[in-house]
Amino acid sequence: MIHYDFSGQAAIVTGGTRGIGRAIAESFLAAGARVIATYVGNETAAAAFREANRAHAERLDVRKCDVTDYGQTEALFKALEQSCPAGIDILVNNSGIRRDSILGMMKPEDWRAVLDVNLNGTFNMTKLAVLAMMRKRYGRIVNITSPCAHFGFPGQANYAASKAGQIGLTRSVSKEVATRGITVNCVSPGFIGTDLIKDLPDKLRQQYLDQIPLKRFGNVDEVAACVLFLASKEAAYVTGTVLEVTGGL
Ligand code: NAD
Repeated sequence: MIHYDFSGQAAIVTGGTRGIGRAIAESFLAAGARVIATYVGNETAAAAFREANRAHAERLDVRKCDVTDYGQTEALFKALEQSCPAGIDILVNNSGIRRDSILGMMKPEDWRAVLDVNLNGTFNMTKLAVLAMMRKRYGRIVNITSPCAHFGFPGQANYAASKAGQIGLTRSVSKEVATRGITVNCVSPGFIGTDLIKDLPDKLRQQYLDQIPLKRFGNVDEVAACVLFLASKEAAYVTGTVLEVTGGL
């Protein structure tokens, strides 16, 4: 792993206590950042995450926040004005869900739930982060999208639409805030072994593996390494882009 120095910087990672988000949060902690890891409801995972990172307790803040609820995201940023008076440097919009089915069978509530977490949640957090970052004329925003945004896997119209929406949001906002020292990018992980894909049937899993040029699924640390690059000061000239971490998919 490349060693970055994020000491003195504060990073919010949504959905930061499990899966890819946890690896990102732990990589920031290892690199010296103050980390605010949010979760929505899995208290067991949140407690395990807090316990595993006890050595960094003074730089770790684990907060419950449903990104779909604008009031909760506003309350989070308000609270951080007290606990992080120097402001937020980095936001990683990692929270995401799937509710797969072919479109004809898709329940409207499953369409809305996926758009709500993956896209509206990204809007809620990004809007508040941009306002806070503009004050310090510095910021790094990284949105976790998916190759589904351009491949459009069958059974994932809601997920694909939400992830394509994140890319559009990223490109527009990157242009709005470029002169304020804020960059906005996406990382697009391919198949990564987390809870999100544990329900994939074996046959489909094998079909996906066959299509990946590197012939394996990725791991969470490989995604975190790319997020840390885009979040670093060194990535100052990279904005409005999508970094694919897909094994060549
Ligand atoms: P995961 O299921 O382990 O984690 C999802 C996270 O989202 C959890 O921490 C959960 O708390 C959080 N979350 C869900 N609803 C939320 C809400 N309303 N408010 C706040 N947080 C909420 O899955 P993962 O694989 O770690 O996924 C992380 C991100 O990576 C997602 O955006 C996902 O779409 C994306 N992604 C994953 C893969 C993969 O293969 N695993 C591939 C491409 C993209």
